[in-house]
Amino acid sequence: MERIQRNIIGIDLGTSNCAVSVWRNGQPILVPAADGNNLTPSVVGLDDDGHIIIGHRAKSRLTSHPHLTIASFKRYMGTEHLFTLGPHHFRAEELSALVLGKLKTDAEVFLAQEVTEAIITVPAYFNDIQRKAVKAAGKLAGLKVERLLNEPTAASLAYGLANHSEQKFLVFDLGGGTFDVSIIDMFEGVLEVRASSGDIWLGGDDFTEKVRQWMLSCKPQLSDAPSETLAELARLAEEMKCRLTQHPLASCSLGWQGGTLEWELDTPTFAQLCEELLTRLKAPIIQALHDAQFSLASLDHVVLVGGATRMPVVRQVVARMFGRFPRSELHPDEVVALGAGIQVGFMLEDKALDDIVLTDVMPYSLGVNVARQYGSRYEEGFFLPVIERNAFVPISVMKSLSTLHDNQQQMDIGIYQGEARRIKDNILLGSMSVPVPPRPAGEVSVDIRFTYTLDGILEVECRVAGEDTMSSLIIEKVPGVLSEEEIHQRLAQLAALKLHPRDASVNRQLLARASRRYEQFLGERRQIIDHFVTDFEVALDSQDVRAIAVARQQLEQVLSRFDDGLE
Ligand code: ADP
Ligand code: MG
Repeated sequence: MERIQRNIIGIDLGTSNCAVSVWRNGQPILVPAADGNNLTPSVVGLDDDGHIIIGHRAKSRLTSHPHLTIASFKRYMGTEHLFTLGPHHFRAEELSALVLGKLKTDAEVFLAQEVTEAIITVPAYFNDIQRKAVKAAGKLAGLKVERLLNEPTAASLAYGLANHSEQKFLVFDLGGGTFDVSIIDMFEGVLEVRASSGDIWLGGDDFTEKVRQWMLSCKPQLSDAPSETLAELARLAEEMKCRLTQHPLASCSLGWQGGTLEWELDTPTFAQLCEELLTRLKAPIIQALHDAQFSLASLDHVVLVGGATRMPVVRQVVARMFGRFPRSELHPDEVVALGAGIQVGFMLEDKALDDIVLTDVMPYSLGVNVARQYGSRYEEGFFLPVIERNAFVPISVMKSLSTLHDNQQQMDIGIYQGEARRIKDNILLGSMSVPVPPRPAGEVSVDIRFTYTLDGILEVECRVAGEDTMSSLIIEKVPGVLSEEEIHQRLAQLAALKLHPRDASVNRQLLARASRRYEQFLGERRQIIDHFVTDFEVALDSQDVRAIAVARQQLEQVLSRFDDGLE
């Protein structure tokens, strides 16, 4: 039988830099760009002949041609924001598609093979709309994007593969524009992201900005300098920052009005300038640990990812906070791409990855709009989470809602993403309208099921209780990213998930056994059983696999103790 060769590349599509890897001979290797560099700047520009240029060539003109060069556009993925480049107007996904196109072509030259598929990494904090935009960018670049992978998950794959023993670690990813914290649990070859948190407005570029502001404050005469001079100043600020990574002191000079302006910056002053940024690194770490219910002391490792973690001031904050030195044996700006390469290997079903199972968490809560009752009055616009932040994905959860008005003809369901109490503060993902039979208020209930897959596709199904017909909606913001056929395929995959845990036979049997015992016993033993059955039912309603397992075990223990006649 002929084996079809699939050429899949793993891509770290960063705010500042991109890197590409492939799976070869049981391990991931980096694919250098045509210019020989492992990193390709995520910069798009226009040259003097009006041609689009991408990567290092574009970045080198950031200073000289600031109006013909665009950088750091990843933050705008999934928004309507338009960038102007000479006569052209681009959305962030189109700029990303240009960069992805170059990465694809460069990889094809290096591999001497056509590349048709890719796994692209995204920050854990990217919401559904941003994830769809990344997929759309891949498609525009002629790449079939099989899967998106959270960047910290990719990094932990790169670090975790070598060691199959039990361990817990934290991935600290400070790139050019975003900060991601993830808590990873690895046991028996299963790698699990237990929680993720971060700050999408914090990165190495902000440290550069502090240096630039300091340079300006030292030489106030530059405040109304021409834009070329100010752009040159920004480039110097970046250089100074990077030099301080290697040396305790950095200096630079700039030609100005026939003379020379000079600066000298030492490490303590730099640390002082960045104090506010360094403080901001702490909150997401505390949040992630809290969400994962892990203590600092329970972590076995802290892993550094992202070029900005090269800075000693950042490493010091991490070391102080965790009381140990973080792991950084891999280049922090290549780790994510290497992890994507491992995921490529996983997809190609290479033997080297047979016992690595990947699970993930969802970074945002997903839910619907509901009304709340105040006395006899209803107030609309509240958010009811259906799948909560940091739930394990893939996941499928059901909630029931009742009608609000007499003879209501339909129920309008808005689907939102976010953490706020009111829907107006969350992001609207889609909406659907479910016809309901006209009855008195509260008599008709609609079951709403949310099913969320590993690559961030949300399916919402609504069924009027007692009826067979079902309305369903796939939240896929960018039209045409999924073909009809792919949607059917995905639906088939999802079908396996849709059993409520209450209906799983092991849980049903245990509940039946407990209620038999409850009926048999009296007094204290009856109360104890009642207590543990209630806990188990609450866990079943939460549809959280872990909580169910814990509550089930407790109830089982109590029942066996009573069965053994020990009490
Ligand atoms: P992203 O993932 O956002 O594309 P990277 O991981 O490539 O970003 O990190 C880019 C950031 O790392 C930039 O802000 C850059 O200034 C910073 N950086 C790279 N090398 C160094 C260095 N030697 N010292 C300090 N900062 C660095
Ligand atoms: Mg990155």
